[in-house]
Amino acid sequence: MYPVLVSEIMLQQTRVEAVIPYFQAFLRQFPTAALLADASEEAVLTAWSGLGYYSRARNLRRAAAILAVATPIDHDEILRLPGVGPYTAGALASICLGAPHAAVDGNVMRVVSRLTNDPSEISAPVTKRRFSATAQDLLDPAHPGDFNQAMMELGATICLPANPRCLVCPVRRFCAAADAGTQATLPVKLGKPPARRIDLDLLVCFVAGTVFLQRRSGGESRLANFWELPQVPAGGLPGSKLQGEFTHQIVNDRYRVRVWLLDSDSSDVLTPDGRWFTLPELAQVPVTTVAKKALRASVNGSKDSRSAPVTQVVQ
Ligand code: SF4
Repeated sequence: MYPVLVSEIMLQQTRVEAVIPYFQAFLRQFPTAALLADASEEAVLTAWSGLGYYSRARNLRRAAAILAVATPIDHDEILRLPGVGPYTAGALASICLGAPHAAVDGNVMRVVSRLTNDPSEISAPVTKRRFSATAQDLLDPAHPGDFNQAMMELGATICLPANPRCLVCPVRRFCAAADAGTQATLPVKLGKPPARRIDLDLLVCFVAGTVFLQRRSGGESRLANFWELPQVPAGGLPGSKLQGEFTHQIVNDRYRVRVWLLDSDSSDVLTPDGRWFTLPELAQVPVTTVAKKALRASVNGSKDSRSAPVTQVVQ
């Protein structure tokens, strides 16, 4: 169950192509639940660094501690694992235990909305409950794991959000939307609110082959204990140079990040929760994705060849 749990947790909110290299590296580093449970949180976050949504990594480590003692024996026990919701519990129970529980992700919701030609707004809780119940009714109880994976695959490869491939669809003869010609209008979704724009000015203080980062405080933040670059006022600090700009989206927040480079240390940024990192050290700690992007931007905009190795440790 452990490798399936790792893959399902990684696939929450992340595309499969992005997950594959992380999944392989993660299992090489933590091949068993016991080894993951024994690892430090910092080591786990470092391995997860770049995948985002870091509460998943913390929950996975806590779930591994439970798996290391005893494998859950049914759907309800799986559902009690940290970070496991109804979809993941259904996937694990059906694939690993052969238990008859539907796994209903966004792809399956779309397929159900079209099979039943149901124009209800898909994010409404009542719609989710009804579509989940329909998926459960459709489930083949003799082969629940295969059925769930087939439904997800159908949604991912045939019943696409735009331009569903009805001519080659294996369930075309059961599809009410295809009969009615409404498949392109389903599922019905309310528009998202516009993204909130946030300006962020970050300082790369790069001195004698070391770079200064500060640690996020603990608590409930999903980025607690990650290392990040110091934030400075708009326009940077005196003596700093603008090295680059990029945008970074987290859920509905769109950050416009400006990267300032200072090649001397400044008491304005030397916070007590920060420290200087050599480049090899930087690869051994969890660094926020925004900080990695900013470090890359600082190198790309820099004519100083001494900073080039930064790119190798912040990929
Ligand atoms: S027939 Fe078309 S709309 Fe219906 S399930 Fe297949 S791909 Fe989707």
